Amino acid sequence: MIRAYHQPKRLDDALALLKQGALPVAGATGLYSTRKKIDAELCDITDLGLGKIEVTADAIHLGATVTLTQLIDADLPGEEGAFLKLVARHITARPMRNAITIGGNIAHAVFWADMPVALLALDASIEIARAGEAAVTVAIADALKGSAPWGNGALITKVVIPLKKGRRFGYERLSRTKNDYAYVTAAASMSVCDGKASDVRVVFGALQPRAFRATDIESDLEGKAISAESIAQAVQKAATDLPIAPNFRASVDYRRDVATALARRAIAQAAGQE
Ligand SMILES: Cc1cc2nc3c(=O)[nH]c(=O)nc-3n(C[C@H](O)[C@H](O)[C@H](O)COP(=O)(O)OP(=O)(O)OC[C@H]3O[C@@H](n4cnc5c(N)ncnc54)[C@H](O)[C@@H]3O)c2cc1C
Repeated sequence: MIRAYHQPKRLDDALALLKQGALPVAGATGLYSTRKKIDAELCDITDLGLGKIEVTADAIHLGATVTLTQLIDADLPGEEGAFLKLVARHITARPMRNAITIGGNIAHAVFWADMPVALLALDASIEIARAGEAAVTVAIADALKGSAPWGNGALITKVVIPLKKGRRFGYERLSRTKNDYAYVTAAASMSVCDGKASDVRVVFGALQPRAFRATDIESDLEGKAISAESIAQAVQKAATDLPIAPNFRASVDYRRDVATALARRAIAQAAGQE
């Protein structure tokens, strides 16, 4: 039961409501489609001024209630901007993307969520606010491990994507239909200088409840000459130990095969080899 619906205009008022136990609601696509019973007051966060995109010399700043459609339609700089738009375009259909927010996609924390995969490859960080405390910034890589820094009164207010010269990205996703949840997603990013890779990130989504970085593959490629063979070797070596949670969509073995193929392609794209 929704006991009350609030739509504050000031962040402090929203945080005070969350402190008293209200649940934040942004695009509502996850909250209203959940099978869990809602028995709470809701705090709509879409009128707090958190729907803005700002670009500075070294970062893209996304307010937590920026929608996927806003992202796709925005003039975003660099390879980072192009990558964010590419990933957002793969998520469900436009009417849904008009509602889904970047903060909601992170906080909803479902295994098929695509933006956390992209944000890990981008080395993004999130800003967390809580009533009566100074806002804190947490690397998305840390936020997705262990207990989430949002919830229980804490709100994601901003996502920050650093702009780094020379970084390139790759992204692959397999789903049954274009609009369906992914069986597997793989993303990669790196800089290549004189044929050698640095700052390598390799990320998988839809294999575990949360997206994760494949640090074994990353360290195998870091600082090395990058070729189709070195990519295939690094991915193959890590394949048997890839943590894959069973789900109803497809077998673990099938998803492992798909994950290795998609990772190879995503890494090759980031390396400029496809
Ligand atoms: C049919 C369908 C298909 C979908 N397909 C995909 C897909 O393929 N890939 C994909 O990535 N997503 C997909 N989604 C979207 C995804 O499952 C979630 O519904 C969506 O990301 C939630 O975002 P929202 O803004 O609507 O959040 P809401 O539904 O408003 O909130 C979701 C949860 O996050 C909390 N929350 C929201 N904002 C914040 C915040 N700023 N800080 C802290 N907590 C917050 C809420 O309290 C709630 O618990 C799909 C959704 C549907 C309904």
